[in-house]
Amino acid sequence: MKKLIAGSLMLAVAIAAAGVCAAPAVMPAPRRLVEKEGVFVCKGAAVAAARYETDSSIPREGYRISVTEKGIAIASSDAAGRFYAVETLKQLESSGRGVTRVPCVEIEDSPRYRWRGFHLDECRHFFGKEVVKEIFDLMARYKLNRFHWHLTEDQGWRIDVPGYPELVKYGAVRPASVKHGKRAVKGSKADADKLNGVKYGPYFYTEADLREIVEYARERHIQIVPEIELPGHVYAALAAYPQYACCPENLTERTPRLVWGIEKDVLCLGNDEAIKFMENVLDYVCRIFPGDVIHIGGDECPQVRWQTCPKCQARIKAEGLKDHHDLQPWITRHFVKFLEARGKRALGWDEYLLGDIPKSAIGMSWRESRSGAGHELVSGAAAATRGHDVVMTPCSYCYLDYGQGLKDDPFFYIGGRVTLERCYSFDPCAGVPEDAKSRILGGQGNNWTEYTWNEFDLAWKAWPRMLALSEVFWLGEAKPGFADFLRRAEVHRSWLVRHGVNCAPLK
Ligand SMILES: [Zn+2]
Repeated sequence: MKKLIAGSLMLAVAIAAAGVCAAPAVMPAPRRLVEKEGVFVCKGAAVAAARYETDSSIPREGYRISVTEKGIAIASSDAAGRFYAVETLKQLESSGRGVTRVPCVEIEDSPRYRWRGFHLDECRHFFGKEVVKEIFDLMARYKLNRFHWHLTEDQGWRIDVPGYPELVKYGAVRPASVKHGKRAVKGSKADADKLNGVKYGPYFYTEADLREIVEYARERHIQIVPEIELPGHVYAALAAYPQYACCPENLTERTPRLVWGIEKDVLCLGNDEAIKFMENVLDYVCRIFPGDVIHIGGDECPQVRWQTCPKCQARIKAEGLKDHHDLQPWITRHFVKFLEARGKRALGWDEYLLGDIPKSAIGMSWRESRSGAGHELVSGAAAATRGHDVVMTPCSYCYLDYGQGLKDDPFFYIGGRVTLERCYSFDPCAGVPEDAKSRILGGQGNNWTEYTWNEFDLAWKAWPRMLALSEVFWLGEAKPGFADFLRRAEVHRSWLVRHGVNCAPLK
């Protein structure tokens, strides 16, 4: 008992001497936190000293923590809630002189949104499984639970699929990439003065890698949402199998697209073999990833090849479609049903909801319109109003490859500006009619990597902005405000830097 009192006094003295605010710096802020007098002191980690119980009245992923000088009690209704309680406890505890201290608090907590995501593009640049695991560790710490993994693109194909060895032989290696600090998003495929001439890859994940990563995610209550882009953004796959393009003669070099930007050569939707290929890829992906959602892309698909392709034109006739504009909704319907038959829901970028698409398809809203007077999240709000579930990730709040407005920033961005405060101000339900708000599943921060070369600039761009988004997705409109966030973000930035994460300054 003497030790307990001594510990409590020491903490109080240490806090007073350092002149720091004693308020706990939990991130994201818990829904309700009441500070009490006193400190709990124990040997070893606080999580080992805690008592755990089940309380079915606590919401999914939610928890209750009661810390008194006598002990720690944790209650939750599910394993995820218990997991998040432990993460909160780890943020509360401090150790020194052989003991662990936890300030006495009462916490009741649960998330506003069930989709709290971190997106990573591994196609423009590849980071590998150790970086992905480090991201999962941080996601768990900040109660993020969806990892949207962008695995296929015009510029790279990153998974080895049984039966299709050419995918990684041709699709996972670029003979050259865009030079550091150069913008090369338009122009021809061989914009020579902007290319570095350095071979990139082959970089891809084997089945053993994928299974290892899936397990690592499962242990942290993270669902991986793999993305296989179709019918556009497939040029790396077409480099491997040119026969699945409308114009195979455009792919004689058999390399992924070298510069950034959108490729005009897309999947030939008149070719049954091309569709069978995508089915086989998705079949494999459904077997590897246990989550209930598969992302099938659907964005930025030019239709110019379909207009003149005899096979695509034959498909339009055979299916009774009006013209080439109807081909994308036709293939979307096909794959929504294909995934449903495998117990999965399709997710896609908002363009893929254009046309007559089953309501079970989930939209991912990224485009914004400023033409409407009221709000910017037009496409997502419209999709939710029509009856689709929607994940909100509008580019002017959630695109972390946009500049963060720092005074001195050593890194290069794609353009645009998304400051930390802008991230924090995000409301995923802004402009959504009241009766459609329940269809907003949440949101995510998107880490596109055209101009992000390695884990150092990836971390710099992701953090601290992901801290702000984690609080937006956890608390929604109940978030305590930017000033309070900044106080806690400073503490967490120090923690991240101490743990080797190249977190950017707050301003
Ligand atoms: Zn075609």
